[in-house]
Amino acid sequence: MKAAVVRRFGEPLVIEDRPVPEPGPGQITVRMQASGLCHTDIHAANGDWPVKPTPPFVPGHEGVGTVHAIGDGVTGVAPGELVAVPWLGYACGTCRYCQTGWETLCLKQQNTGYSVDGCYAEYFLAEAAFAAPVPAGVDPFDAAPLTCAGVTTYKAVKVGNVRPTDLVAISGIGGLGHLALQYAKISGGTVAAIDVTDEKLQLAKELGADLVIDARSQDPAKVLRAHGGADVAIGLAVDSRSFATAYAGLRRGGRLVLVALPAAGELSIPVFDTVLNGTSVIGSIVGTRADLADVFALHALGRTRVIYETRDLGSVNESIAEVLQGKARARLVLRP
Ligand code: NAD
Ligand code: ZN
Ligand code: ZN
Repeated sequence: MKAAVVRRFGEPLVIEDRPVPEPGPGQITVRMQASGLCHTDIHAANGDWPVKPTPPFVPGHEGVGTVHAIGDGVTGVAPGELVAVPWLGYACGTCRYCQTGWETLCLKQQNTGYSVDGCYAEYFLAEAAFAAPVPAGVDPFDAAPLTCAGVTTYKAVKVGNVRPTDLVAISGIGGLGHLALQYAKISGGTVAAIDVTDEKLQLAKELGADLVIDARSQDPAKVLRAHGGADVAIGLAVDSRSFATAYAGLRRGGRLVLVALPAAGELSIPVFDTVLNGTSVIGSIVGTRADLADVFALHALGRTRVIYETRDLGSVNESIAEVLQGKARARLVLRP
């Protein structure tokens, strides 16, 4: 089978021929139909973060396909079923985080396409208990971006406690942002969308943004404050400075939810203002299996639209370049 492999950080991925992986106990092998290209995969391939994967590895954590083979002890899923394999590839199930609904914080977790090989391959392995069933009627190419971009932003909107009277600033209308905007609207918020390309700002309008802010020509903080300030700002732009701008655009009592992970990302905040304004700054990492089930259920109900274009797995390097140049439509989805 074909797999796209990171052999060295910062170098183009190499298409390798590898044996189809055999599932161990509790595992399944999935035959890939659609595999979303999350910006996290680009950070992984570049070794951008303090905790790094170990090359050679296969990135990808928005993998959707049919169950090809099942290992010993697998009961919940059968060959032929459509499943989605997210970033949270495994969690222990017994620690205090797992037991209190925070499996995404489990210290024993494995991350698909990072600590274990991911979905940029014709076949890939998954822990059966962490592969999500894709409901009937949900297209695999829609399901792929929902598997990370969807669940992550659904969770961020929840963590930000978006309420119907809130002004919600979404900074970065890419793969994550175009879905964040929709979840914020579903929660009843008024949405201000911020980006730096005409295409993304236009997309935000099409998806129902109430206000669009072009961060190239406008200061988003000023525009937000002119509207009373954002109750919630969700940072999804791969640009460290955008967090400070979002922070400065908050209303008193506002919540800044940090999601994007630019290399060497830093946010410096004044203690005095943070205390007197009662500001919250919250980190948010993906979402649980239950969050992903919600995301699929909402999509099956026709409440969300996934904007994507497809590319061949073999053109993964060109696809990464498109994302970095801001040319890609909201999400690129690789097909085998
Ligand atoms: P993307 O490249 O699809 O989207 C980024 C968007 O930000 C683009 O539309 C770009 O035009 C816009 N942008 C760039 N600079 C900007 C600025 N100064 N102001 C406003 N917008 C700006 O990326 P993505 O796949 O949506 O991922 C975004 C980030 O989220 C990445 O760093 C990724 O690693 C991270 N991520 C985090 C989690 C998590 O659980 N916390 C999960 C998935 C992805
Ligand atoms: Zn992701
Ligand atoms: Zn755990």
